[in-house]
Amino acid sequence: MQPVHKDLGQTLEKLRSKMAFFQKAATHPGLTKEQIEWINKKSLMFNQVLTSLQDSGSQAQEPASVMAQSLITNIRKVKREVLGWIKFKSTDIEVFRSQSKSEKWIPLMNYLAPPPKFSDIQNADLADINFPCMSYTNQELCQLAERIFKEQDLLTEFKLGPEKLEKIIKRVCLDYNVPAYHNFTHGFNVFQMFYAILKKTELATVLDRTEKFAALLAALGHDLNHRGYNNAYEAKLQSKTALVYFDTAILESMHASLLIKILKDPEIGFFDLLPDLNVSEI
Ligand SMILES: [Zn+2]
Repeated sequence: MQPVHKDLGQTLEKLRSKMAFFQKAATHPGLTKEQIEWINKKSLMFNQVLTSLQDSGSQAQEPASVMAQSLITNIRKVKREVLGWIKFKSTDIEVFRSQSKSEKWIPLMNYLAPPPKFSDIQNADLADINFPCMSYTNQELCQLAERIFKEQDLLTEFKLGPEKLEKIIKRVCLDYNVPAYHNFTHGFNVFQMFYAILKKTELATVLDRTEKFAALLAALGHDLNHRGYNNAYEAKLQSKTALVYFDTAILESMHASLLIKILKDPEIGFFDLLPDLNVSEI
């Protein structure tokens, strides 16, 4: 049997190392039996495809490369799904810790006062610029985000039912990655800080309801799908995203485009609820 082509060999090697994620994820205590079975099934299937690609030799170079590409896409999709299950019930710091190989990247939490129990959080706590966002799970942060939108009484104005709002916020949460900083906790932090400014300053009096709603939503989703790299790095890497946006405001364009994509998802259809407004106004 001939050895696989060097480039393909490197790709397969990289993919092999990615399989460790599924092994580790399957031992996560927060997952259900069905979820663990699903992960194991997918992981077994990925390993089988990897082995058959490794055994395919150099004759089948082109179809093997196509298959490797589709494997990469599938692994990414399944990884995102699994990460979503894990991260929703955890804080981003816990998820980051469970995946980090190096202690030095673990963020520090230094709060002067112990954080309030989730069930004790008052609206006044949410309007505090020192609100300890990092102490709560993503699911809890989603519930707090819903509470802020409701407190601002923006739902009836935009004919947005509570179920749709919940769906939008959860999708935003799950479309964040879990790097050390640019994760959903950070998105929530900026959103909650904007809310605090609305409550504590005169800003609320100069913004109309559309502007308030758009600003809150934009704050929550402002770093969607951030991988922890800056624009210069993405450009140098010639990443897929850098090529899509032609090196112009790469990350900012991606974050905005993903947020609009969520709002336009047929399951959400946010813009259909706004007959009097247009997309650009939001
Ligand atoms: Zn940010």
